[in-house]
Amino acid sequence: MTTPRPSLTHVGPHHDPRGPDGVGLTIGKTFTFEASHRLNGLPDGHKCARLHGHSYRVTVELTADELAGPGFVTDFGDLLPFSAYLAEHFDHRDLNEVLDVEPTSERLALHLVRWFLDNVQPVIAGRLVAVTVSETPKTWARCTVGNAR
Ligand SMILES: [Zn+2]
Repeated sequence: MTTPRPSLTHVGPHHDPRGPDGVGLTIGKTFTFEASHRLNGLPDGHKCARLHGHSYRVTVELTADELAGPGFVTDFGDLLPFSAYLAEHFDHRDLNEVLDVEPTSERLALHLVRWFLDNVQPVIAGRLVAVTVSETPKTWARCTVGNAR
């Protein structure tokens, strides 16, 4: 008697990363940086209107229809350009000067998804599923890509 093997070779009509048996793989890597920001357009007295800082956590999630190399969705080492981008442009910066929009977690996640798709996605094995940005241990904003979950 054989056990059904999970299939990761199926490419669904909507780029569903799951195989026909509902099995799929997602990997993630978390990056950190420290930065300040202040948010405009808030009611008087809102604490986020004051200049303050966060230890940001940025988690990238990837999937793939087929595994590469020894069995990777993407070699974590291939995410080095993303790490370098965060370190160079975001770490110990004022996010109000980095982004030309209000630096909320939501807009930062959206910006990082677009940068990843333009600069990292073309040269890695996997496909970006989402980028999640956390300013605090209890809060996060997750920007998803296309039909990926
Ligand atoms: Zn804040």
